[in-house]
Amino acid sequence: MGDFLEGTLPGLMQPTPLMISSILRYAANAHGDREVVSRLVEEPEWRYSYAGLEERCRRLANALSVLGVAAGGRVTSLAWNTHRHLELFYAVPGMGAVLHTANPRFSDDQLVYTVNHAEARVLLFDRSFLGLVEKLAPQMPTVEHFVMLSDADRHEAGSVGALCYETLLVGASPSFDWPLFDEHSGAFLCYTSGTTGDPKGVLYSHRSVVLHAMGAGLASALGFDAADVIMPCQSLYHATAWGLPFTAALCGCKFVLPCDKFDGSSLHTLIEAEGVTFSGGVPTIWTMYLDYLERTGASTGTLQRLVIGGSAVPRAMAEAFQTKYGVKVRQLWGMTETSPLGVVATPTPKLTTRGPDAENDVIWTRQGRLQYGIEMRIADDDGHDLPHDGESSGRILVRGPWVVQRYYRAGQDATDADGWFDTGDIGTIDELGFMRITDRAKDVIKSGGEWISSIDIENIAVACPGVKIAAVVGVFHPKWEERPVLVVEPHDGAAVSANDVLAYLDGKIIKWWTPDAVEIDSVPLTATGKIDKKVLRARYADRLRG
Ligand code: ADP
Repeated sequence: MGDFLEGTLPGLMQPTPLMISSILRYAANAHGDREVVSRLVEEPEWRYSYAGLEERCRRLANALSVLGVAAGGRVTSLAWNTHRHLELFYAVPGMGAVLHTANPRFSDDQLVYTVNHAEARVLLFDRSFLGLVEKLAPQMPTVEHFVMLSDADRHEAGSVGALCYETLLVGASPSFDWPLFDEHSGAFLCYTSGTTGDPKGVLYSHRSVVLHAMGAGLASALGFDAADVIMPCQSLYHATAWGLPFTAALCGCKFVLPCDKFDGSSLHTLIEAEGVTFSGGVPTIWTMYLDYLERTGASTGTLQRLVIGGSAVPRAMAEAFQTKYGVKVRQLWGMTETSPLGVVATPTPKLTTRGPDAENDVIWTRQGRLQYGIEMRIADDDGHDLPHDGESSGRILVRGPWVVQRYYRAGQDATDADGWFDTGDIGTIDELGFMRITDRAKDVIKSGGEWISSIDIENIAVACPGVKIAAVVGVFHPKWEERPVLVVEPHDGAAVSANDVLAYLDGKIIKWWTPDAVEIDSVPLTATGKIDKKVLRARYADRLRG
């Protein structure tokens, strides 16, 4: 990051550390009666206030202390978007420990890897994960206590002897003083599989979470106010649901948690019943919701704005929401490594002077504009800056207080000496500061918001008898944004069919990673002998358009 200048005069303001607990305390004091509503797995809906949330978080902190969780300790959650998961979001970092939000969409091996890498002592899980937890428990030796996020009536201890969450809370004292400590302390451990190799842990600090929450609330980004009713449809285990729980609380917004019910009908019911004004998530969810609206003729009710990201937002979707339903779509680009807010597409006065058509065109087709807190550059392969002319496309580099410095337990920084983190995305920035993604340098595929490793599929496919080269590329798909297409070049004289390859992959890769198409074709190579994925992506761009 470079050296700091010496000789400056120390400021004389209070050194109050930026604590996640301060957001909870603020919400409980200033917006104490604002509601938090949660759907649950096979339990009646839950409803309380920020004051009630804070009280239960104090109990939870005491209960976790009794289980041996102390400052710096790691706790894993395997849970949906519920109020209990939200309680873990505040209580675990609030007591100085770290919440590892495990991703249930990972393969079993990846999931086990992350829990072991985090060395979690307590694992709290929703009842729908009991079978998974029972299966994987023998491979997770550091976990001493399993807790089912359940009421006492429906609790099941299972073969892991799980404790009951609500019983723990009832038995715990409600008095707990949220401690102060170094704001750089770890708070959340989020693993990303959007790189090659094992998942990598990004350890958010209290400081990064609080600054990110404040930055996300700005009108240039998500623009929340106290009248808003926020429903996060990004999973809490995905980069802390893009920090929405914290931004909503510090803006005093009502908070509505949909559990795991992200289908169009469930979302519609919740939006109507709770008066939701703002929601967000990956494009796949909003494709399903839009489809529901078109099929049923239902209205979007109180919904005013959506923040969509994680994959490129199809222009037609943004346009349909705005022109047919009056719902504004704000595209967001970011990654686990950026907490995740990077850029958000909101208008500027200069853009507005170009007229509504030009404004819509930019807002619907750009990933977003530069935001305070994230410095962004585009550079060529030699690291030279490229102009912000909307044409020159290069590697997107970022740095700032909520960007990763080093992956958890890695031996070296993930940035260069000046603090720049290479995102693996390729894009342009225009003269108004709007960034547009044009390509991806990293060899992974994003399907419905989750990563598929092309390399893992290739390594297995190439072992199929008769296969000489196997190459996997991500191709546009109308529902999942991207799906894998596997291109196979057989050995000379070998007869391999698409079905042979699919049969070979069956059981060797996660089912949802199965390629949507297998093409028997020649595989182009670059001058340096690597598979030329750019050519393959262009060749099969329309393969899954239906
Ligand atoms: P998240 O958990 O928020 O989805 P990940 O770290 O899994 O974050 O994924 C980040 C990557 O997703 C980015 O590097 C980029 O490749 C892709 N991505 C995120 N948002 C967008 C967007 N709006 N348009 C295109 N790609 C995006």
